Amino acid sequence: MTHTTAELEGLLMQRSLDDPRLLAAVEAAADFRILPDATVIKVGGQSFIDRGRAAVYPLIDEMVAARKTHKLLIGTGAGTRARHLYSIAAGLGLPPGVLSQLGASVADQNAAILGQLMAKHGIPLVSGAGLSAVPLHLAEINAVIFSGMPPYSLWIRPAAEGVIPPYRTDAGCFLVAEQFGCKAMVYVKDEDGLYTANPKTSKNATLIPKISVDEMKAKGLQDSILEFPVLDLLKEARHIHQVQIVNGLVPGNLTRALAGEHVGTIITAR
Ligand code: ADP
Ligand code: MG
Repeated sequence: MTHTTAELEGLLMQRSLDDPRLLAAVEAAADFRILPDATVIKVGGQSFIDRGRAAVYPLIDEMVAARKTHKLLIGTGAGTRARHLYSIAAGLGLPPGVLSQLGASVADQNAAILGQLMAKHGIPLVSGAGLSAVPLHLAEINAVIFSGMPPYSLWIRPAAEGVIPPYRTDAGCFLVAEQFGCKAMVYVKDEDGLYTANPKTSKNATLIPKISVDEMKAKGLQDSILEFPVLDLLKEARHIHQVQIVNGLVPGNLTRALAGEHVGTIITAR
């Protein structure tokens, strides 16, 4: 049953904002998808952009071609430069909120790079994925580029251990897809998908085409190809019930994923 604004207001005024009856009442309205036709693509930092020309140019061609038939929100990872900054800052005893700001500056750099490379195709870099110019660009040009780090900055929730900010660009891009109620979330990285172990160090690792969050945790893979908080975000999401990880180094993979083909690994909420 949906509630009238007056009923909701009555509950909100009388109760704590965590009151179970209030939570149930505000849950009653159907969720609204803000950008239901858009797909968020995260272009990896360490795994992709840091590989330079050989990786980046072909992917750009693929994204430029794809936007003829798809609406794309292209988010960037941070990568090696961020890891370098994290190591210096952690060694100096700086807190996670400062590392989060430093990491964001590197995702910004990668977004600036993609912005320059895609400028001639009319694809703009937007400052922050917050709405402002995004709907108009998506309607007219079918694509925008944004910096993938979530803007928690100093206010980031620290991890249980250590000073590395737990919500980085995998999480930032996921949250954009989820909040906007987008059609799909695709991670472009440098491996064919999730393996039974890190394929860079385990030669016997095998590819897992499809897996749920719970199965991933049961196999001890929660801290592997995606930042671990993304798994819990996915499990609790209202709109995005699966994410796909594709190897962007293989031409055509991203195009196939956008066409709904099962390439790479699909991680499901349930
Ligand atoms: P990004 O650049 O998008 O942040 P990362 O480099 O952080 O990507 O994550 C992708 C990397 O995760 C892969 O290149 C791979 O080396 C590593 N990895 C660790 N465990 C696994 C696993 N079980 N399956 C696949 N990749 C894994
Ligand atoms: Mg990463």
